[in-house]
Amino acid sequence: MIRKKEIKKTAVLGAGIMGAQIAAHLANSGLQVLLLDLPSGTPGSPERNKLAKQGLETVKKLSPPAFFLPELAARIDLGNFEDDLEKLRDRDWILEAVVEKVEVKQTLLKKIEPFRKNESLVTTNTSGIPISEISKKFSPEFQNYFMGTHFFNPPRYLKLLELIPGNSTLPEIVQTFQDFASNRLGKRVLICRDTPGFIANRIGTFAVCFILKAMQESDLKVEEVDEITGPIIGRPKSATFRTLDLVGLDTFAHVAQNLYDSLPEDPMREFFKVPDFVLQMLSQNKLGEKTKQGFYKKITAENGRNEILSLDLKTLNYVPRKPVMFPSLQMAASQENLKNKIKFLAQGKDKASDFFRKTTAALADYAAGKIPEIADHSISIDQAMKWGFSWEIGPFELQDMLLNLKISAPTDSSIHPSVIKQNSGASLFDLGDGILNLEFHSKMNTIGEDVLNMMEESLEILEKYEGLVIGNHGENFCIGANLMLILMLAQEEEWDELEKAVKKFQNINQKIKYAPKPVVTAPFGRTLGGGCEIVLHAHESVAAAETYIGLVEIGAGLVPAGGGLKEMLARLGESSQSYPAADLFKPLQQIFETIGFAKVSGSAAEAKKMGYLRKKDPILMNSDHLLSEAKKACLNLSKTPYIPLEPELILVYGRPLYSNFLIGLNLLKEGGKITEYEAYLGKKLASILSGGDFTSPQWVPESYLLDLEKETFLSLCGVKKTQERMQHLLKHGKPLRN
Ligand code: NAD
Repeated sequence: MIRKKEIKKTAVLGAGIMGAQIAAHLANSGLQVLLLDLPSGTPGSPERNKLAKQGLETVKKLSPPAFFLPELAARIDLGNFEDDLEKLRDRDWILEAVVEKVEVKQTLLKKIEPFRKNESLVTTNTSGIPISEISKKFSPEFQNYFMGTHFFNPPRYLKLLELIPGNSTLPEIVQTFQDFASNRLGKRVLICRDTPGFIANRIGTFAVCFILKAMQESDLKVEEVDEITGPIIGRPKSATFRTLDLVGLDTFAHVAQNLYDSLPEDPMREFFKVPDFVLQMLSQNKLGEKTKQGFYKKITAENGRNEILSLDLKTLNYVPRKPVMFPSLQMAASQENLKNKIKFLAQGKDKASDFFRKTTAALADYAAGKIPEIADHSISIDQAMKWGFSWEIGPFELQDMLLNLKISAPTDSSIHPSVIKQNSGASLFDLGDGILNLEFHSKMNTIGEDVLNMMEESLEILEKYEGLVIGNHGENFCIGANLMLILMLAQEEEWDELEKAVKKFQNINQKIKYAPKPVVTAPFGRTLGGGCEIVLHAHESVAAAETYIGLVEIGAGLVPAGGGLKEMLARLGESSQSYPAADLFKPLQQIFETIGFAKVSGSAAEAKKMGYLRKKDPILMNSDHLLSEAKKACLNLSKTPYIPLEPELILVYGRPLYSNFLIGLNLLKEGGKITEYEAYLGKKLASILSGGDFTSPQWVPESYLLDLEKETFLSLCGVKKTQERMQHLLKHGKPLRN
């Protein structure tokens, strides 16, 4: 029988939007992939695999990227449904992702059936065709190993995978594949009943259909509904209509119509009926992004500027968008956390509040009525909406919040920590087996006074324990120092205070490095600036595959000053076998560019190439298991037994390297690639990375480099252009290129 370690060779049938992206994600997961599509031209012609090739080429260009690293595309072999069926004989898993038509899927699966080896798994990627309908004409053995896999688009980034066993699928195969999908593909798996639309599309489509109807009754505009149904209630920025434009109105209408046709008993069936104005939009080719017009349309106005118009649902003409002005929305928008936003929206007395209350209540009612038809428990429905559609809270959680404004925090189910110490920015937990967990929970997990204090205390307490894991369950590992605080101190010229803060962070990072017990970090999501520096000082990192890490201080007009530059130099020594004899200018140049351009890794795999993670650091596809895996890694280190590091000297190259950096900087400046001030910042960075004014290579103590970092950081804080950069970053969330 198929076991999870045996799924190594895979095939994807269909190189369309989903097939090609799923193939990319399988390659990310370390699997071999054969990607097939319809043949073109005559046998043997160079055009033969055109469709599969096109699919792969499209996926290579996607943004955000479908591949962890561009070179992973080489794990995908291309072919077609005529000439390459023999190659299916050694495949452990074949995934079909051709058009959503039952006959097409059946015909293709029938065709590959003779080429499939016994006990290999076959899955169909469908948005809603009943699995038993697709598989009914196949042999019993085929049906035992057949199930539905509903990936969400984009499959690399959306966590949900709905697994739909057929009537005859063997339970142990479902279990094996579920484990594989969770551990190897990093998916959050929901086992679904074979009901129309499964869980997420059934509930999600109802939500949209209800909104379409209710907005007409309430006479609300497209942009107004998007304001009420977007981030303000914990849903993506694309809210309702921008999402429909992205998905395509034809696709949406198709899904809704399918649900209408296949749900004769559903008491709310009429809501799935595609509204008249949508049918008219279809006939006018207003399909959304793909026809460049949908609920929104981008035009170039007379002044040459791009303008986005919105659709007037009564006339189906495009009109300028009006500012959305509802008191309840304005109150809600000024709140920091979701709970308060929802509270103000729910308590309002205007049309926006009425609409919010009406649509959320209807959705929760509908979802409640679908238990146990589509899911055994409300939790699965909440999870489906969060993992598949990136909602922050599911319909039941939202309803609970409205009832008692209580939010439950997600937890790693395998870990039940007990609190040792806590302040407003961070907590220290006992994870059991002698391992501590330091968790940041400040706003966006920035490093401020409270976090630093908790880090200090944790490192003291660590003496009595076996190891420390730094990691959390938030949205990001840590986005760096509290910039607001730095800016305030700089504007008030509190240089002593600033120096004290920098020194404190440096000392803490040094304490991590030289701790008597192992310290393991568990980075995931954004791990920037100071967050990256903490990772650099730890003994090992267990990183989520989706880790976006970098020293980005230049963007704020600063340089890393928590020991990040020093540690990048130290790691060079760690990784280079012939250090110091070899010519290290090249890797040093790479470090200079990475930090100088504030580059952030697009994945943990890329972070290794950039030097932010060590080659041996484990990467985990499923970030839900990050803390428990980091705990295991920490326990392993502690058992060896753990020998604390000895203070080290670091090799710096002095002036020859500095001159080298300057040549590059001048070229960039003269070519107009960087501004005058960026060249200035580049020089500051260059002077630290080259170690200062030595005429020949020197070994220096860490404290020397730490002082250089600190002095440079403090001097930059006093420069107006740096303060402008910080201000801009805080206000707009993106760097100013002054
Ligand atoms: P697509 O239209 O992009 O690609 C369909 C593929 O089917 C193409 O490679 C095409 O060459 C192939 N094809 C077309 N006619 C064929 C035929 N007669 N025989 C064999 N192959 C044929 O579709 P997609 O968006 O990738 O969707 C694939 C499946 O995934 C569908 O079942 C869809 O419902 C499901 N799905 C799509 C999304 C999404 O967002 N696009 C999300 C979840 C599930």
